[in-house]
Amino acid sequence: IVRVAPAEIAIDGGERLYILSYRDISQARRIDRMRSDFVANASHELRTPLASLRGFIETLQGPARNDVKAHEKFLVIMHEQATRMSRLVDDLLSLSRLELKSHIAPDEKIDLAPLLGHVIDALSPLAQDVDVTIALNVPDGPVFVNGDRDELIEVFENLIENACKYGQEGKKVEVSLLGGEDGRPVEVAVRDFGPGIPAEHVPRITERFYRVNVEASRSKKGTGLGLAIVKHILTRHRARMIVQSEVGKGTLFTVRF
Ligand code: ADP
Repeated sequence: IVRVAPAEIAIDGGERLYILSYRDISQARRIDRMRSDFVANASHELRTPLASLRGFIETLQGPARNDVKAHEKFLVIMHEQATRMSRLVDDLLSLSRLELKSHIAPDEKIDLAPLLGHVIDALSPLAQDVDVTIALNVPDGPVFVNGDRDELIEVFENLIENACKYGQEGKKVEVSLLGGEDGRPVEVAVRDFGPGIPAEHVPRITERFYRVNVEASRSKKGTGLGLAIVKHILTRHRARMIVQSEVGKGTLFTVRF
């Protein structure tokens, strides 16, 4: 709390009145701190692959100059690091674009059934890579919601990609669309049968850069920003995400419009 004006003293019939003005800036301070934490995290995440790239380049220019095997091996790793940085920059741009348009309501009329089919088709190479089958259950007719097509694609890409990446030992992922009949809300459920998320981590998984098991997650090629983006988009759509997870059994993410 800060004092925003000097004490004013009024003389009234010999009495002194003190008028003090204060403003609560804890919210503004908190936002400032979050912003600088975010910049620090983002810089740290970029610095690691950059340092590693520099190390490999120096080795290739120096001790491994004539080593063809080392060239092949290092180039693969350097390509991975560059891809990781691109992913991170893409996610950072997504977040800042969302912040810029947070005042514009998304209002296209979108049929979710073909949209989910499109997302699953786009993810099928990844699913094949990790040996996961994605099943889609949709009702017969169209299921409309008001929204932004690209943003909703991003939401379901993130959730289904996570289900494949983190739930891969379950071998299958089920995506179900519930049609909102009888006044019930429209829902999309993404279920995996993987290791699940320990209860104490569930409330934090939508925080920027939060990853449950940092070492294990790192091997799964992510930025820790995916669910933060999802949460942002769903808030804009006045939709909610419900996470139910049981360790050793799997995880169910439900998006309720
Ligand atoms: P990332 O880029 O790491 O995938 P996300 O924001 O998408 O970032 O997810 C945050 C963390 O939540 C992940 O690192 C992972 O630890 C955990 N997580 C997300 N989805 C699942 C899931 N389906 N099963 C288990 N853990 C998950």
